[in-house]
Amino acid sequence: MKNIVSSLLEKVIEGNLIDANEALELAENAETTELLEASNKIRNINRGNLVNLCGVMNIKSGKCSEDCRYCSQSAYYMTNVKSYDLVDVDEVVEFAKKYQEKGVNCFGISTSGKAFSDLNKEKVYDIYKALSRETTMRLCGAHGLLKEEEAYRLKEAGLCCYQHNLQTSKEFFTEVCTTHFYDDRMNTIKYAQKAGLDTCSGGIMGLGETMKDRIEMTMTLRELNVMNIPVNTLNPVEGTPLGDRPVSITREEVLRNIAIYRFIIPKANFIYGAGRVLLGEEQHMAFRAGMSGIVVGNFLTTPGNCIEEDVEMLRNEGFMLTSDKGSYAI
Ligand code: SF4
Repeated sequence: MKNIVSSLLEKVIEGNLIDANEALELAENAETTELLEASNKIRNINRGNLVNLCGVMNIKSGKCSEDCRYCSQSAYYMTNVKSYDLVDVDEVVEFAKKYQEKGVNCFGISTSGKAFSDLNKEKVYDIYKALSRETTMRLCGAHGLLKEEEAYRLKEAGLCCYQHNLQTSKEFFTEVCTTHFYDDRMNTIKYAQKAGLDTCSGGIMGLGETMKDRIEMTMTLRELNVMNIPVNTLNPVEGTPLGDRPVSITREEVLRNIAIYRFIIPKANFIYGAGRVLLGEEQHMAFRAGMSGIVVGNFLTTPGNCIEEDVEMLRNEGFMLTSDKGSYAI
């Protein structure tokens, strides 16, 4: 008789989707090595050995009106995060060009704050126009909640993809944030899609959620047809309500989660994001568990790895870089 991993692997390879109960069964009963190997096989079938490099820049930091309990940029908490207003167009372009030279093919700019409408929108549109003119990278933006008409304007300005994380399941979200609603987040994703933007949305592991919450979030992302999914692990920041909490998730759990996410949405681009230091010297293992993208350089408020070292890690794992112009060896 086939075990749970091989029978669900067969199901996925045949083009069928697994349901939440099956995902939970994998989480509870699959043997780790077998689970990771199966997930890697699914990644290989659906995405080959292509990997994309995302670079991010925080162009407005801190003083956020929201109370997301993990976030160093919330005005509710006393953290050491640097606060600054929207940076100038030239500074963003100069920063982006440096990333492009290093092989980054997807460049994301992010702003703290509840909603895009709280920003100097014309300046943000100008930044996208300048980036479209002066770089060839795919442009991604994370500016909080979005209105439908704003999504159209962002697309016109050159944005390719809107980034807005669900963070966790709908049920657990109320434990994470009380100043806006999960439905607001889902609507933002829908508005972006309606305007013809690609969407990127994922979550954070280690907020205190259960495995069921993680699976539910991934099921919601599948229903929303989100195909770029950042996978983050909590990096506790002093001063936030979760700041003094030891990271409650083990390295093995992180890898198992990545594998289960890949089983749930076989074709998605799973992007290895913040908190990956948790895997220490074993960060390459995430790619053997089903990951297909990576955030390189610094994260929004925390330092990251050296880009060249990440590229070398990917080369050693046999990956090639995806770019809008096709793929080429790294
Ligand atoms: S809305 Fe964004 S910037 Fe503001 S506290 Fe939440 S995660 Fe942080």
